Amino acid sequence: MAFILTYQCSCEEIYAVYVPQKLQARELGQSLKMIREAEKADKEERESGWIERIKTGLEDVGAKFIDSSINEVIQCECGEVFDLLVFYREGGVIV
Ligand SMILES: [Zn+2]
Repeated sequence: MAFILTYQCSCEEIYAVYVPQKLQARELGQSLKMIREAEKADKEERESGWIERIKTGLEDVGAKFIDSSINEVIQCECGEVFDLLVFYREGGVIV
């Protein structure tokens, strides 16, 4: 299952970051076969509308939704930059 990391910037903006299984598999150093399977699962998840539902729910509570398969580095409007991969490796908050 993919998961959502939450990050609160020092300016109090809240980010919710979708971490696809492919990225997790890659970060865990899994085999190419497992990465491909993760990629397939991500595609199914996307097509099922799960990501859209999560995104809408998060935006309703005021969080900014980030898809880390598109952006791996985020710059907040206040100028602060955070690298999702570093955050992920350091074990960001998982909801
Ligand atoms: Zn900020």
